[in-house]
Amino acid sequence: MKITQIRLGTISVPLRVPFKTALRSVDSVEDVIVEIHTDTGAVGYGEAPPTGAVTGDTAGAIVGAVRDHIAKRLIGRDVDEFEDVLQTVQASVVRNTSAKAAVDMALWDLYGQLYHIPVYKLLGGARKSIVTDITISVNSPEEMARDAEDAVRRGYDCLKVKVGANKALDVERLLAVRQAVGKKICIRIDANQAWTPKEAVRILNRMQERGLGIEFVEQPVPAHDFEGMKYVTEQSYVPVLADESVFSPQDAVKIMAMGAADLINIKLMKCGGLYNALKIAAAAEIYGVECMIGCMLEAKISVNAAVELACAKKIITKIDLDGPALCREDPILGGAVFDEKQITVSDEPGLGIRGIEPGRLVYLP
Ligand code: MG
Repeated sequence: MKITQIRLGTISVPLRVPFKTALRSVDSVEDVIVEIHTDTGAVGYGEAPPTGAVTGDTAGAIVGAVRDHIAKRLIGRDVDEFEDVLQTVQASVVRNTSAKAAVDMALWDLYGQLYHIPVYKLLGGARKSIVTDITISVNSPEEMARDAEDAVRRGYDCLKVKVGANKALDVERLLAVRQAVGKKICIRIDANQAWTPKEAVRILNRMQERGLGIEFVEQPVPAHDFEGMKYVTEQSYVPVLADESVFSPQDAVKIMAMGAADLINIKLMKCGGLYNALKIAAAAEIYGVECMIGCMLEAKISVNAAVELACAKKIITKIDLDGPALCREDPILGGAVFDEKQITVSDEPGLGIRGIEPGRLVYLP
């Protein structure tokens, strides 16, 4: 199976409601799509969201990295030289993890098709279905309480509540959400780097004293501040999950060796695809650190690749793959079935993607 062509395009999918965090506010998913064509007629699909605020990867940068650096080195290569081809993707350009992730997942899609096996089975095959949380955007306490009630009505029993924008309100926000949904709903929070270490400890401990029952806090302090995160991990009652601090497998090992966090968040767009995500998962198994798998604002192709990994590995115990649930529609054909919180992986070979609804993919010249 030889690679003959790599085509790039974009899709736009409107969100149900604007997505707001301490870092940004967004109305729609605007992703880059990668199609890898082969001499057998098989096509591998990949996708990358331009999440400049987190990864630094803009749409133009993703397209440029694939077109000018990665694609040139892949044309004519045999997918069956799999390890070598995956390493070529990682070595073709520094950083640009979203572009690498899109190409990497398309290659796994092809490799699975070549040997007629779904990717989740290729990677380990731990289970067929998973249950995701859903994100509640940061807004006024009243609005967040309403959004939380809506989510519970849709069947979600785990909420990921965004905090950190206008941080004086954070305890009030959580009080409003907890009061609206009752005691049985799981609540995890994400500060997206908004707090200083001391603020984090103060706010988190106040939340616990108020009986808010927070499962864990994601990325309380700035991404580069590993020492600050270790301080929060040691001083607060609430477990800490490292998200923006962990891009590469090396970051993950450093965080775990320092004891700077209790949990690690794996995202394909931060680590450059399944090739590196597997290394993070393996390191986490060695350290005995459970992982969450998360996504950016992504449509179904790239979230599907994350679903394959989540269904393969038992060390991934927390699922935050709500990208498709936040979208108003789904233009991707095939792949995993997303039924609100319940996600069931496809048993088709590769990623199981059959294509994109006619007229939705705009090819780039
Ligand atoms: Mg996060």
